[in-house]
Amino acid sequence: MAFWPSIVVATPAHSGVGATLTYRSELSLAPGGLVRVPLGSREVLGVVWDCPDAPPEGLTEARTKAVAGVLDGLPPLNACWRQLVKFSAQYYQRSLGEVALAALPPQLRELDSTQLARRLKKRAKVGTAGPATPGELNGHDLSDEQAEALQALAAASAPVLLFGATGSGKTEVYLRATQAVLETPVSDGESPTQVLVMVPEINLTPQLEARFRERFEPGFGAGSVVCLHSGMTPAQRLSSWLAAHTGSARIVLGTRMAIFASLPGLRLIVVDEEHDPSYKSQEGARYSARDLAVYRAKVESEALLAASGRSWHTGPHPNPLPEGEGTEAGEGMNAPRCQVLLGSATPSLESWHAADQGRYVRLAMPGRIGGGMLPRLRLVDMNHQPKGAMLAPPLLAAMSERIERGEQCLVLLNRRGYAPVLACHDCGWKSGCPHCSAYRVFHKLDRTLRCHHCGFTERVPRACPDCGNLDIAPVGRGTEQVEEQLASLLADVKRPDGSPARVARMDADSTRLKGSLEVQLAALHSGEVDVLVGTQMIAKGHDFRRITLVAGINADSALFASDYRAPERLFALLMQAAGRAGRDAEQSGASEMWIQTWYPQHPLFATLKKHDYPAFAAEQLSEREQAGMPPYGFQALLRADARTQQAAQAFLNIAAGQAAGLPHRDDITLYPAVPLTIQRVANVERAQMLVETHSRGALQRFLSAWQPVLHGCRSAPEARGLVRWAVDVDPLSI
Ligand code: ADP
Ligand code: ZN
Ligand code: ZN
Repeated sequence: MAFWPSIVVATPAHSGVGATLTYRSELSLAPGGLVRVPLGSREVLGVVWDCPDAPPEGLTEARTKAVAGVLDGLPPLNACWRQLVKFSAQYYQRSLGEVALAALPPQLRELDSTQLARRLKKRAKVGTAGPATPGELNGHDLSDEQAEALQALAAASAPVLLFGATGSGKTEVYLRATQAVLETPVSDGESPTQVLVMVPEINLTPQLEARFRERFEPGFGAGSVVCLHSGMTPAQRLSSWLAAHTGSARIVLGTRMAIFASLPGLRLIVVDEEHDPSYKSQEGARYSARDLAVYRAKVESEALLAASGRSWHTGPHPNPLPEGEGTEAGEGMNAPRCQVLLGSATPSLESWHAADQGRYVRLAMPGRIGGGMLPRLRLVDMNHQPKGAMLAPPLLAAMSERIERGEQCLVLLNRRGYAPVLACHDCGWKSGCPHCSAYRVFHKLDRTLRCHHCGFTERVPRACPDCGNLDIAPVGRGTEQVEEQLASLLADVKRPDGSPARVARMDADSTRLKGSLEVQLAALHSGEVDVLVGTQMIAKGHDFRRITLVAGINADSALFASDYRAPERLFALLMQAAGRAGRDAEQSGASEMWIQTWYPQHPLFATLKKHDYPAFAAEQLSEREQAGMPPYGFQALLRADARTQQAAQAFLNIAAGQAAGLPHRDDITLYPAVPLTIQRVANVERAQMLVETHSRGALQRFLSAWQPVLHGCRSAPEARGLVRWAVDVDPLSI
């Protein structure tokens, strides 16, 4: 007997959503199984999607190729995983094959079944160490707020938004919720329960990993906690993935890509710092891992409930994505389910709005652990400071005082390198990038000019390339320069032991080498460093114990940015940054957040001063509602890259013209094609068109119908020179 499995393989981005290829097989293959199949002249990894015993109409045996091999050492990817992949492809307008294969560890593509069997055997030896000292799970005594939050979480039957101040102890809530899941008994043959914990950035994983290992490895064995992020080697990623897929890992900690991990026993997804833009992918399928977490939890819950033979009742929709009929786990804490817990001190307006509407359960932990206070906001009016001062004298004095007391300071600015531009004051030459419409950044340490968009790097010229003037000078400031100047400004300041103050820097440049991040964080934690200068990387998530002063020295540009999300982002960043100060309750009373600004009267600062996120959110949401912006309206971007700006815009305009008559066209506004703010990157011209509507369903159906049209527009003569195009659903910046 022959079977005709439909197989998903890595296909180009736009080969059609839902496309699978039909092969032949002597054996019946389980959906979700991994196979190797011929494709063109190569043999590639594929995922079995379906396995009918009759060929699809019109297909003959002679025209079908046989499956080349089956990776039968692995259990199949389960139905929930496949549903997640399918939904992601549809929702974000990409091909099923692209999403499915990108969701698997890259190294899996290279293994045949013998090699895989060897890997699995090696894993089996190390993986199943079993509980060392069962039941030895200790933690802090819970604060009242933590205890209440955990009770409410256990009773919640919708996604939970944990609105917890910085330093309120959200991590302990994650740890306890995880513990409850891991201790849930499962019946014979069921996968052991699992938890997925996501963080926005790789640099936050070491601290969290340490806390989870310390808490759970004694009870659940070495190997019960694994990480999954792009900073790992392909071999490490494969190993973590296999551990999760086979159930030997009980906890997966990772960045956004971890949302696609295969987790057969998934019962809880934690999204820490859920507001963070890093959860949205900016390439390939431009998915939001936060939104997919909510969707995945719903799918997993439905499957668990179906398996347990209970039924659903209809209720408010827990899923932020599709509109329409909704279901909700109705039986409270006893129903088998997968929960989703979104945590933040500054939730995204989308999640805040969902909680306002009752679609999410909002739990608040307003107090800091130990009764500590949030730092006092001090605004420095730069209009009244000496001209050209990088740090206002009162700020410098405050920092010196802290250092003398043995406390630490953080200095934040959002620009790495020494200076954003190098310029000649004689002829006006500037260090532009020849390939981009942007300046190259001056890096003094290695004396280079580097483009932060395309990577183009050259040695700094000795003289002006245009007029030969020897006196070319940096304009503006980056982290390197602030580090250098602070070191000299603080040269005479002594620490309590009499040694000179120490300044260090942490940004994408200083943490490029593997392991350097950990070393730098350790230096701060141990008190070797007094002042840390850095980009937003240092503002997020870290539990620094001795920092009592945080300074934001150039926040102004974001006050007047054109992007409507800029205020939300700035508010979150400053509030997060402030949250790094005074985390030790005893020192919190004297902790301060300093902001240097030319616009101290700006209303954003007044709200920030009160640490009043709810007031800020309410005001932003009402503005958004009036303007029909997300979360009240729905958006997508059609992006085009081409050799010329004209071709890029032509593609967009043709696509808009040919949208006439498509379903829901009347509900959709297509804005004029415009160049991106940074119009040219790596010699490619970039343009985009905003797609906007009041209904998510309309947007989805319109975009699906538009896909084939977009394919066709590629070959229009006016669009000659088009390099690529993409749809970005729910874009984060427009
Ligand atoms: P958040 O993530 O909410 O900013 P953390 O989870 O990092 O805060 O917690 C802040 C600090 O408080 C950490 O050092 C943590 O160990 C400590 N902590 C958390 N819960 C408790 C508790 N119940 N008792 C004592 N200390 C706690
Ligand atoms: Zn010159
Ligand atoms: Zn460039």
